[in-house]
Order: sequence, then structure tokens, then C-alpha cells
Amino acid sequence: VRSFAGQHVAVFGLGRTGIATVKALLAGGATVSAWDENEDSRKSAEAAGIETEDLGRRDWGDVAALVLSPGIPLTHPKPHRMVELARAVGARVIGDIELFARELNALADDERPKVIGITGTNGKSTTTALIGHILKRCGRDARVGGNIGEAVLGLEPPRRGAIYVLELSSYQLDLTETLGCDVAMLLNIAPDHLDRHGDLDGYIAAKKRIFANQVKGNTAIVGVDDPHAQKICSAMMAANGRSVVPISSGRTLSRGVYAVGGKLHDSLSGHAEAVMDMATAPALPGRHNSQNAAAAYAAVRALGLEPRQIAAAIKSFPGLPHRLERAGERGNILYVNDSKATNADAAAQALGCYDDIYWIVGGQAKSDGIGALAPFFPRIAKAYLIGEAADAFAKTMGDAVAHETAGTLEAAVDLASRDAAAGGRKNPVILLSPACASFDQFKNYEHRGDMFKIYVKARIGEAREGA
Ligand code: ADP
Repeated sequence: VRSFAGQHVAVFGLGRTGIATVKALLAGGATVSAWDENEDSRKSAEAAGIETEDLGRRDWGDVAALVLSPGIPLTHPKPHRMVELARAVGARVIGDIELFARELNALADDERPKVIGITGTNGKSTTTALIGHILKRCGRDARVGGNIGEAVLGLEPPRRGAIYVLELSSYQLDLTETLGCDVAMLLNIAPDHLDRHGDLDGYIAAKKRIFANQVKGNTAIVGVDDPHAQKICSAMMAANGRSVVPISSGRTLSRGVYAVGGKLHDSLSGHAEAVMDMATAPALPGRHNSQNAAAAYAAVRALGLEPRQIAAAIKSFPGLPHRLERAGERGNILYVNDSKATNADAAAQALGCYDDIYWIVGGQAKSDGIGALAPFFPRIAKAYLIGEAADAFAKTMGDAVAHETAGTLEAAVDLASRDAAAGGRKNPVILLSPACASFDQFKNYEHRGDMFKIYVKARIGEAREGA
């Protein structure tokens, strides 16, 4: 990236994003001071050929910008010390997405690739991957990254005809100023991730930034299935310029894209047509995935793809790991890995997909707990509580749900397998959908989901040997 050529840039945070950022800045002629407070991260950056320098000890006089890794608190509870150091010398505080945006903004209009930006509380990764899949299936040069997979500066460099499909977290949007998305999407807003933004208003403000800098001819896609996103959609409808496309799972829309009665509908032209049967897309079960499919459809439709080719591509989507992923089967028992459900809202989607659920839940609880999941309790044959949240969740469940404290994930898989085999239910599903962060017992949600799959495989193997 050339926007800081000849200038000095501080990069704080040396994960995947930070490393890609340092390399891009150096390639573009900037000088860089890179640092991470974690020694392991510093070591892996050094192994990748990056020199590190303690930013807390150096003089910031010559620093033009601080590039902050997403995930480092910007404002809450107070700015990170690095942010204060940067602000004291008038250096800009930005993220890698902003560097990418500046690179695009420097290109001539006919050289500029397209950008699809995706944000929301839940469904970002699925929708991002789905859009990438559709575009690639339809022969487009799609580059998928951002908050999912590759950091944006690690993707192929911009060129005409390319389409960047970027998952953007609210953390990243907080650090982005000049990105203009050809297609910008806000899927939904549920109270989560409030720690960094302080409160719901701050969180909503960050999410809304995805629509900043959009111009006439651009498209804004907004979910209307929760009150917060719905409100944003109505406000944008009133302001003209770009086209605003509402999407829904559950509601008929006079002009938009929506799923009702198990079918995806396109009413963008003012008259509704059924585009596909959602049952023909096995990797996208549940009402929430219909929302993701509607959003993805609207995005690629805005780029001119045809309904029939889009529908064919959606059907062939393989799905992402850890999101309602089928982990195995034993007799009539289905094991489902939904480790990615780190909050109650995401778990609600999973609980809505099945009856006869043997539910593995718990970990590091979010502030809103699982009280909101009470409407799903009748679907639960029994719950198995793991991690730090066990006691609190047991209290929430009270007499409403049969439950047992399993402690560890492995014990939970064993107990649930035993009960599901003996339970005499028609379609027992052993579902890991923890509604919690994983950090009390695992490295991250991927680790938790991978361990679940290992325990499930062992269980299934044992059953085979025994047979
Ligand atoms: P994100 O990247 O926003 O975290 P993912 O696509 O990884 O979203 O899905 C995370 C979890 O949220 C999954 O476990 C899934 O059950 C749930 N989920 C997916 N899409 C939606 C949606 N549109 N609305 C609500 N929950 C969803």
C-alpha cells in the first residue's frame, strides 16, 4: 500500500492481520515499527521476517499513523495506551481495511475493483463465504477475506474486474474512514460485543459505518428482521441516492429479497417471484440461513448475476465448519457442531432447527446469559452444562429443562450419547451450541469445535467396534 510511502507507521498487534499489514506497508515504501505485547506473536512475526520494536519505549515524534489490529480496545473502557501515544503526536489511528480503502481510492475509476462489505452481529462469515462461492461459481474473480480467512492486505492486489468480498467486524469498521462499498450489507443487530463499544448505541454506530462513503449507484442491503436493523433500513430508505434493498427471513417484502414458506423470493422489480426452495440447499438449514441466503442473493444480484445461476450456486454451497456442521451420525443420533454460536442469539438459531435436542451448552458466559432462550426449552430433551457458566445456566434453567453439569466437553459428549441412545426419541440431535465464548477451556471456538468432532468420532468408532 502506497498511501504512507516515505512516512513512518507504527503497527500494533502482530496476528495474521498485523503481519500482512507490515508487509504491505514496507512493499509500498513506508518505514514501519511493529510491536505486539505478546511474546509468541512477536516471535512468529520475527519468523516471518519482521523486525519488532517496543512501541512503548520509542519516541513517537515521527509517526504518521498507528495501524491497530482489530480486537484491541479503541475507546472502552479507555483508549489503549498505544492509541493515547499516537493521539498525543497527532498520528491517525486506523486499521488495515482503511489502508486497503486508500489504495482503492487512489485508482482510476475504470481500474477500481468492486467491493462487497458484509457486517452484522451473526451470519457474517456464512454470508461472506456464500457470496464468494456464488461469484466464483459464476466465473468471477472473487477475493474473500477481512475478518474471515485471509487479511485484506494479504489478498491478491487490486485489479480491474476483481470483486473483494469482505467480512467487516464492528471493530474493523471503527478503524475505517474512507472505504466506499459498491455493495454494503448489514445483516442484523443483536446485543453482543458491547464490551468494546460501551453500549448498544456505540455498537450500532460502528455497524452503520459500513454505509459511509457510498455514492449514487451503490447498493445498501439491510436486514429487517430485528428492530435495530429495521430502524436503520427505514432511515436509509428515506434518504435517496443509492438503492436500498431490504432482506428478510419470515416477512414478505413488496420490494426486496425474502424467504417465506421455505422459498427464497425476489421482488426487486416490484413483483414477487420464487427463486429457489431452501430445502435444496443442505448446507443452509434454518431460518437464519435463509436470511444469509437472501442477503447473498441480493448482493450478487446487485452486481448483475442472473437469478437462475445464483440459485444453482447457492444449492452447491458446502457450508462452513463449526456452524450447524454435521459432525457424525450413530444409529438415528445426529451430532451437530455449532461451536461458532458464542452468544444466545446464535444458539437460538440452532435450537430452532431441531426437536429432541440433547444440548451441550456453556463456557464463558456473555453478559446477557441464556434467559432469552427460554422459548426453546420445550425442544430440549436434556442439557449438559460445561465450563464457567454451568452454575449460572443451571439456575436459569431451573425446573424448565432437565439438565446436568458435565463440566468438560468430553464428559458432555459421553453423557449426551448415553442419554440419547436410551431416550427413545424419534430424531435425537446432540447439539454443541454453547451460547458462550470458549476461552475458559479452549483456545478459541475452532478448537472447541475440533475437539467436539474428535470426541464424536471416538464415540462413533467405539460403537462400531462394539457392534
Ligand atoms: P459471524 O461471522 O457473524 O459470527 P457466522 O456465519 O460465523 O457469523 O455464524 C455464527 C453463528 O451465528 C452460527 O452458529 C449460526 O448458528 C448463527 N447465525 C448464522 N447466521 C445467522 C443469522 N443470519 N442470524 C442469526 N444467527 C445466525
